[in-house]
Amino acid sequence: MKKRANIVAGNWKMNKDYQQGRDLTLEIVNKLQPSETVVILCPPFTHLQNTHTAINDISNLHLGAQNCHQEESGAYTGEISTGMLKSCGCDFVIIGHSERREFFSESDELLARKVDRALATGLRPIFCCGEPLPIREKGTHAAHVSEQVKNGLFHLPEEQMKEVVIAYEPIWAIGTGKTASPEQAQEMHQVIRSLLAKQYSEALAERISILYGGSVKPANAAELFAKPDVDGGLVGGASLKADDFIGIINHSNEALAK
Ligand code: PEP
Repeated sequence: MKKRANIVAGNWKMNKDYQQGRDLTLEIVNKLQPSETVVILCPPFTHLQNTHTAINDISNLHLGAQNCHQEESGAYTGEISTGMLKSCGCDFVIIGHSERREFFSESDELLARKVDRALATGLRPIFCCGEPLPIREKGTHAAHVSEQVKNGLFHLPEEQMKEVVIAYEPIWAIGTGKTASPEQAQEMHQVIRSLLAKQYSEALAERISILYGGSVKPANAAELFAKPDVDGGLVGGASLKADDFIGIINHSNEALAK
């Protein structure tokens, strides 16, 4: 019996206008069955308040943001603070998505500060890591991802580390339709969990949910979620269609029931 939660988080990225986002949330809310899987919706900032209202009293459904600023407040035009996110009803925030690392040059050092700011505000970070294709082809993916995890998270004391969710997302599988095989995902999740055990303790490592991300869809979710160290998924494209997203959640529920 797993000591950690299975989580399915939907990252809408920069998709859906306000009305489309509202419709998608309502469709998910109407179709979602009560279950043990923790479901998180991460819409764009402009949709947070409305999404929060729509999901308010559903116990396994939570709100997450896709990014936050590392400072508490101040003269940072166009940025969003963790306090603002918390006050809109967020419980989670994605930190270090590969698109933020690549297109916004977010460094490990910056991400570590964002993690601190999120935790200080009572938000749980969904910390993303993953290797680009050349690193996978060179065979140094385990070392690459280990560095990202160490640099972004290992300054945290155990009490704070318990609140973190990790998402392993090989960049070559994000939005490409290519998925890591269940074996490739399991191998990397095991690398990350062993690292946690070595740095903290076996008990802590067993408690941390490690999600897989990279073209998860209803057709491949069952075999990915069947792996012992894969505790659900961070889902991009397939989270934009209620039926696909619900299908993935159902596979998580089935994996939990086994
Ligand atoms: C993501 O954005 O985190 C992601 C995994 O996207 P996709 O599911 O579309 O590959």
